Amino acid sequence: MNDHSPAESRRLLADIDLDALRANVRALRERAVGGARLMAVVKADGYGHGLLPCARAAREAGAAWLGTATPEEALALRAAGDTGPVLCWLWTPGGPWREAVEAGIDVSVSGRWALAEAEAASRAAGRVARVHLKADTGLGRNGSPPADWSDLVAAARAAERAGTVRVTGLWSHFACADEPGHPSIAPQQAAFADALAVAARAGLDPEVRHLANSPATLTLPEAHYDLVRPGVAVYGLSPAPEIGSPADLGLRPVMTLRAFLASVKRVPGGHGVSYGHTYTTSGETTLALVPAGYADGVPRHASGTGPVLVAGKWRTIAGRVAMDQFVVDLGGDRARAGDEAVLFGPGDAGEPTAEDWARAAGTIGYEIVTRVGARVPRVYRGERAG
Ligand SMILES: *Cc1c(COP(=O)(O)O)cnc(C)c1O
Repeated sequence: MNDHSPAESRRLLADIDLDALRANVRALRERAVGGARLMAVVKADGYGHGLLPCARAAREAGAAWLGTATPEEALALRAAGDTGPVLCWLWTPGGPWREAVEAGIDVSVSGRWALAEAEAASRAAGRVARVHLKADTGLGRNGSPPADWSDLVAAARAAERAGTVRVTGLWSHFACADEPGHPSIAPQQAAFADALAVAARAGLDPEVRHLANSPATLTLPEAHYDLVRPGVAVYGLSPAPEIGSPADLGLRPVMTLRAFLASVKRVPGGHGVSYGHTYTTSGETTLALVPAGYADGVPRHASGTGPVLVAGKWRTIAGRVAMDQFVVDLGGDRARAGDEAVLFGPGDAGEPTAEDWARAAGTIGYEIVTRVGARVPRVYRGERAG
């Protein structure tokens, strides 16, 4: 792990373990019941891990589908040569509908305006638009509300007859699957079953029906249908501590965020540390400077609480996280400039995990990895040739 090539940053880097990602995809596929296939969600630059290497590794491990939020993410997959099924779901009027249809990307439609965009794109592209109709079964975000569903379904069926659209998918998304037993889960499943029945009566016969994100993939086999749609679990994080640790779930965190100390120095007691002097040394001590800050995705909310492994021990950030750097107090321990500081990783070499950072910053592991900044080089381990 320490054979960094000269091109690799000696400041801060995110090690991305693609073997772990492949193993996670295989583990999740094994959990999918009834022959359900797997869509690896690679939105937001693969949850901060890098869109294209993660997409390739997920395909290598048997992901039948890839899922993105924005059309730009889906088009980037095609531009890189991915030819398999891709669904993209976060659309706005005037978006690149035609480019997506031309590229054979499946598009999500939650209402009549979006269906009209898909039909227009189909006519412009001279190609049938592949559409997944999304039902709002209770999340209250995107998706057609039940009152509009039969109208949307009928319009989509008419578009199929007109030859512009093929309804390839019917789908929805959970609000609280990360809280097993939450009272919204069963009603959402029932609402989805109703939506499927309405669509079937209207004559729709999709290739895939899908509902399960990571927590539902891990805890709700009855929600797997034809396709499970995990995101965070692909990257080896647990969707929620109460569902289990990654190891409990047979997953391995993919990202390790490591820095190299920029300075180590002795200072006297009573020395203020970082902006605002919210930390003061209690006696003569050694301060180490970690060259990572909120511009790199280290949450400023973790000032005074974020954990980092330096010189063999967990340390807590001393004072505020600045834009580019933070300080740790090594007490009587020794270190040198250039020594490694591991912010988070799988946790089995004594380092904190993304979940530890989430707790320290009052957020979720998803945000910790996804927010790692564009300035941080991703270094891929286990990349396959070709
Ligand atoms: C992000 C997302 C997912 C994946 O969610 P995880 O909790 O990361 O598994 C699945 N479906 C939709 C619609 C999403 O937006």
